[in-house]
Amino acid sequence: LVTGSALTLLATGCFYYLSPKDAPAAVEEPEYVEGVDGLIGNTPLMKIRSLSEATGCTILGKAEFMNPGGSSKDRVALNIIRSAEEAGILKPHKGSTVFEGTVGSTGISIAMIARAKGYKAWIVMPDDQAKEKYQLLEKLGATVEKVRPVSIIDKNQFVNRARERAGAFGEGESVGYFADQFENSANFDAHYKTTGPEIFSQTKGKIDALVLGAGTGGTLSGITCYLKPLVKNLKVFLADPLGSGLYNKVKYNTMYAPQEKEGTRRRHQVDTVVEGIGINRLTRNFDAGRQFVDDAFRVTDEEAIKMSRFLVREDGLFLGSSSAVNCVAAVRAARQLGPGHVVVTLLNDSGQRHLTKFWSDEYLAANKLDFPLGAKESVNDFV
Ligand code: PMP
Repeated sequence: LVTGSALTLLATGCFYYLSPKDAPAAVEEPEYVEGVDGLIGNTPLMKIRSLSEATGCTILGKAEFMNPGGSSKDRVALNIIRSAEEAGILKPHKGSTVFEGTVGSTGISIAMIARAKGYKAWIVMPDDQAKEKYQLLEKLGATVEKVRPVSIIDKNQFVNRARERAGAFGEGESVGYFADQFENSANFDAHYKTTGPEIFSQTKGKIDALVLGAGTGGTLSGITCYLKPLVKNLKVFLADPLGSGLYNKVKYNTMYAPQEKEGTRRRHQVDTVVEGIGINRLTRNFDAGRQFVDDAFRVTDEEAIKMSRFLVREDGLFLGSSSAVNCVAAVRAARQLGPGHVVVTLLNDSGQRHLTKFWSDEYLAANKLDFPLGAKESVNDFV
């Protein structure tokens, strides 16, 4: 079937013609960014309509999945590599390699920026993460090393292995650089200098609560330390998945709290489908902002899975697991504060990076995590 307008298009190639005198007013400077790093940051802040309606609050998600490497970790990787260059440690195109221990997102961001800046990347990851993260890393030219998920006291733990590899690598100007996102303050600085100020200017400082999970803690601490002095009465809530000790640390000042059901299980011993957040040690980056965290919410896999399905159904918003945890906790914070408040959270990455695990019906069924959303379910039923 060919419609009338399609015929016009076929005949003329265009619906309308502009003559040079109709051209839009010239901008002063051509508008383009410089390379992939020019695409990082300045992400939009999006009102999540369904959650805002359900709570009577304004729930805002910072769309970090719109960064070119697909997550907020682009900001961190860029700042870590830039800082190492400024310190004279890394020099491009000399065969230097950036090593990192990561559950994926930071590795992907490092691999991308390393390529763009003339370095190689060597990424050590636990072997239980979603497959597409390893595939993406390989396509970005990184060397990927998988290790068993074990405790941090084990020398084969992914962070320890990456540190050791970096130490043994290189000679002359070709160095092995350990990015060390957990302890490196360039991680905190990336969020203190970019994400925090962006949130402040996007909300004009009208925020009542900030809600987010922590892996390294760089995002939470960086944003919190920037916003707390500027926003009166800002409440900061940690969103924590099963097996993580941070919830206990905030609530009871101990990583392993017997009074909490999940308190004695360690992150690497818990089969959660949530990736990227939750940890059982105090990193330097989390510790930097810990004093400002007011309260914490424990979020189960069931709640996160249902939230992610709910957000697709209601808002067309397709998110990864840590973002779903953040949204569950954002609703809880909104309920605690009551209607009329502004709650900001982070949408760290998209569901596309979680198709074979968090978003796989087969995987969830095999792990007894298949909690379908009923046709009439509302957010009140599972948060
Ligand atoms: N979400 C995802 C998808 C992540 O990969 C990470 C980092 N591992 C986080 C959230 C947490 O960020 P941070 O390390 O700054 O605490």
